Amino acid sequence: MKKIYPAKKMLLSLACAVSLACTPAAFASDHGANEAQTDKTPTKTIKAALEGNDQFRYDHRDKHFEPFQDGQVPNLTVVSCSDSRVHTQLFGIQPDNNIFIIRNVGNQVTNSEGSVDYGVRHLPTKILLIMGHSGCGAVKAAMGDYSGETSGIKAELDPLKPVIDADDHQGDFSVRLGKNVERNVDFQVKAAMELYADKLKDDQMVIVGGVYDFQNLYGKGRGTLVITNVNGVTDINKIIAHPVMESIYKGTVVNHVGSLAPAL
Ligand SMILES: [Zn+2]
Repeated sequence: MKKIYPAKKMLLSLACAVSLACTPAAFASDHGANEAQTDKTPTKTIKAALEGNDQFRYDHRDKHFEPFQDGQVPNLTVVSCSDSRVHTQLFGIQPDNNIFIIRNVGNQVTNSEGSVDYGVRHLPTKILLIMGHSGCGAVKAAMGDYSGETSGIKAELDPLKPVIDADDHQGDFSVRLGKNVERNVDFQVKAAMELYADKLKDDQMVIVGGVYDFQNLYGKGRGTLVITNVNGVTDINKIIAHPVMESIYKGTVVNHVGSLAPAL
């Protein structure tokens, strides 16, 4: 009889427990009290993590691990925010051995340049996806006074200054935040284009920017990944026409490309 490990839901609380986005101060306003956090002691959280991983092992067995035990061959490098609301099961792709993912506050390329270099230059993947998300606490914190934060947090927020300087201050705060999240993606794409100019010149890779929108800011449905930038191109029609989109059904492409803010 198949053994069942009832731990999957509790794993979510561990993700939050180790995520910087769940710390107090400037980031705290993104995280109201939620059920997953209220009754979990540290020992229950680590118990859930171990049981959850055992469930995964039981479900997948050796046949899952053997193909990649001696090396990885992912086809996608992703730079994502550490925010625990941004799920790792991107697009439904099984992430193991398929997605090389780097996470930090504000999905920043230059804060993790070595890790991104490894994905792009050594593996190498032909796609680099830089993914922001609606309601990003890092961008929100950078829009305000974060002088009381730790030196580590300040060092990771300071590089967002050019993004915040471009804020047009039009609309209410939530509108401005949404636009700044998209501007940050554009900013990170631009940084990546400079780092990997040689590979772009030879058509060896494509840099894609997008926003994971669980607030439905783009009006395409909660949880949609909205493509906002391809190799620095932010015009919606030009993105739709880009060769990297050619194998995707046109209606699907249209529903996954959008823009809230003019490019930097
Ligand atoms: Zn974020």
